[in-house]
Amino acid sequence: MNVPAYAARSAGAPLAPFTVERRDPRPDDVQLDILFCGICHSDIHQARDEWGGATFPMVPGHEIVGRVTRVGPGVTKFKVGDLAGVGCMVDSCGRCDPCRRGTEQFCTQTAAWTYNGTEMDRTTPTHGGYSTSIVVRESFVLRIPAGLDPAGAAPLLCAGITTYSPLRQWGVKAGQRVGVVGLGGLGHMGVKLARSMGAEVTMFSTSPSKEKDAERLGATGFVLTADPAALKAQAGKFDFLLDTVSAEHDVNAYLSVLRPGGTMVMVGVPPERLKLSAFSLVAGNKRLAGSLIGGIAETQEMLDHCGKHGIVADVEIIPMQKVNEAYERTLKSDVKYRFSIDLASLKK
Ligand code: NAP
Ligand code: ZN
Repeated sequence: MNVPAYAARSAGAPLAPFTVERRDPRPDDVQLDILFCGICHSDIHQARDEWGGATFPMVPGHEIVGRVTRVGPGVTKFKVGDLAGVGCMVDSCGRCDPCRRGTEQFCTQTAAWTYNGTEMDRTTPTHGGYSTSIVVRESFVLRIPAGLDPAGAAPLLCAGITTYSPLRQWGVKAGQRVGVVGLGGLGHMGVKLARSMGAEVTMFSTSPSKEKDAERLGATGFVLTADPAALKAQAGKFDFLLDTVSAEHDVNAYLSVLRPGGTMVMVGVPPERLKLSAFSLVAGNKRLAGSLIGGIAETQEMLDHCGKHGIVADVEIIPMQKVNEAYERTLKSDVKYRFSIDLASLKK
């Protein structure tokens, strides 16, 4: 069936109305009527082909929440009317070692990314959530806990899992000092989630105007990174740092605030290469690591955690027609703290 969508026709072209074809549900498929889709900075990197290898036309969007409208006869976890979510992946091989370990994002066959990729047949292009409906294999559809606002829950499907997973992998817990670098979509989820795990959280930001918000989100410290003296005053204080910055920045400066043996995890993916001094790691046995979203089971665990703690993203709801403006505002760090597209605007 043909459904309305918004697509970039070429790298950097403004997004414009487009039609995508969705397959009829197969026996193990779930069809969602999309209610909300978050705007992730990765949508912008890819729509502008900043990471290379992008394919067009591209319908971005991997923070999807919708209502189940159809299920194949083999589907057991969902029924019509359920609220469900889809994140960055819609399929994987299911047989390789990473898939068996629940890290489908590292599928050796390459996962079927929700957009800017192909289905596992490697020929059918995938198209994301800037559309009114999507059909996805049941095993890649997530349950949205009751009580979570759908517009605010949508960003959990990428910003939520991307920040939850490293906090869990590195065992962040009560009593630890955690720094979150960059207060955007990922950063604000990082603050909320680290707080919910009991950590003491400090925000590292380039935006003085965000200090009050950082406090409201749960941070007890705020460091304006443009001020070298402010950064220097934090030297050696942190157990763990989550770097969510989307643009080129000096990681050495942030590594200096780790205590000996501390870890900094990159989740932000600036297109430029890092300039790293070995001294930044050697002096203090420090670790610099990375983390890519999270597997399907872990994404469900994150959603259940958010359901239990009442955590959703702080969103500004926009109609699909405002997407290009929202991209520009995201690039100016002018979003509090995630745009969530109301797909009702495309259904009229
Ligand atoms: P976002 O909402 O635009 O937030 C990024 C924040 O970084 C900004 O709000 C700003 O915070 C800070 N920042 C921007 N430019 C900066 C600069 N030049 N120097 C220092 N700080 C700067 O983006 P997002 O959606 O959270 O995504 C962040 C990054 O994570 C993107 O690169 C995205 O592609 C990536 N990502 C990775 C994964 C993964 O699996 N690893 C998943 C999703 C997204 P302040 O105003 O507080 O400084
Ligand atoms: Zn994302």
